[in-house]
Amino acid sequence: MKKVVKFGGSSLASAEQFKKVGDIIHADEDRKYVVPSAPGKRFGADTKVTDMLYGCYALAEKNLDFKKEIEQIKARYQEIIDGLGLTLDLTPEFEKIVDNFKNKAGSHYAASRGEYLNGIIMANYLGYEFVDPAEAIRFHEDGTFNADLTNQLLSKRLENVERAVIPGFYGALEDGTVRTFSRGGSDITGSIVAKAVKADVYENWTDVSGFLIADPRIVDHPEGIEIITYSELRELAYMGAGVLHEDAIFPVRKEGIPINIRNTNAPMDEGTWIVGHTCQKSKYVITGIAGKKGFASINIEKDQMNSEVGFGRKVLQVFEEYGISFEHMPSGIDTLSVMVEQKEFEAKEQNILSGINKAVKPDHIDIQSDLALIAVVGRGMKATRGTAGRIFSALAHANVNVRMIDQGSSELNIIIGVSNDDFEAAIKAIYAIFVEICL
Ligand code: ASP
Repeated sequence: MKKVVKFGGSSLASAEQFKKVGDIIHADEDRKYVVPSAPGKRFGADTKVTDMLYGCYALAEKNLDFKKEIEQIKARYQEIIDGLGLTLDLTPEFEKIVDNFKNKAGSHYAASRGEYLNGIIMANYLGYEFVDPAEAIRFHEDGTFNADLTNQLLSKRLENVERAVIPGFYGALEDGTVRTFSRGGSDITGSIVAKAVKADVYENWTDVSGFLIADPRIVDHPEGIEIITYSELRELAYMGAGVLHEDAIFPVRKEGIPINIRNTNAPMDEGTWIVGHTCQKSKYVITGIAGKKGFASINIEKDQMNSEVGFGRKVLQVFEEYGISFEHMPSGIDTLSVMVEQKEFEAKEQNILSGINKAVKPDHIDIQSDLALIAVVGRGMKATRGTAGRIFSALAHANVNVRMIDQGSSELNIIIGVSNDDFEAAIKAIYAIFVEICL
């Protein structure tokens, strides 16, 4: 068996956390490829090393002095080195970094040093080979990830490497210029490595025991999700369920490599399994609930709209011209609504409205703002009668007015639009009707 293990920033924030990670790795000899993040927060008000690096580079870019700031970063690493009792000296690495900052190596390079240095410490601590992802993780010139070339290069690079540490979060362009993924991107690196070495499992270690059925800031101590499919997770992640970077499932999904989300601070917990397919039913018909506030609905009315060929296309074209993507488009016989992210839309509102007027000459347009979208997701819904009925009666009992309903064609989710003010009450009501009632 081969396992790729990725550890997040809070799992590597201090020497104490590093030791827990070391114990986890040594407890299972299949844990052969380790992907570390940069040191995260040690306590609530602490600063992540990645943010310290961005701050430091912002000074360097303006030709301001950044000596104090770089010393603070060095101290974070030294604390870990000393706490682990290692003899490693990062001074030459820091000298190189300072030079490169002065030569304006770029903010991607700056941010990537958080993972790079933590990788050096981790490799030294474990006695594993250090593999710099700049050698094998490739980006296109336009900054997008080059999946095919990366897989070729990385599988070759790791072919005869029994155990290795590969820092997360970055790679490089063809010419060697360092490039990072978006924030939280070490999750993506873990997935890329799992694919390259054809791992049996990709373990993603963080500070929670997996995904929860609902947001714990809204529902008091929600139950955890034991097993979830990639498709269900896509729906939930899109709607804001954090824990794993949205793009992290793509490399492993095609290969059918399961992801296991685990808790470094509670290693005995099974966490959440993310899999391609499963015949295991979710415990509660629904797998999870997630949602986001801040949407607007542009409602367009025109008599006999349904017989006007191309009506929908013309409306959407206006949104496309202004670079606004739409979330949902529910329609009636003579009405059509386009739901968009309010903040994005607001800036271009009048242009879009006049564009729609010109394009389709509607009888009437109105805008509803401050809406929230809630996704109720579950592979079990397809085969269970009355799921929608239960959702809507729970919402009615909670005095929540439903403004929009959309069921995805996969029957994996039901999306409900409510007013921003009803968002929390709606999530609580849905959680109660499916989960609390069964407890
Ligand atoms: N260190 C990076 C961040 O803070 C990447 C990561 O942790 O995944 O976003």
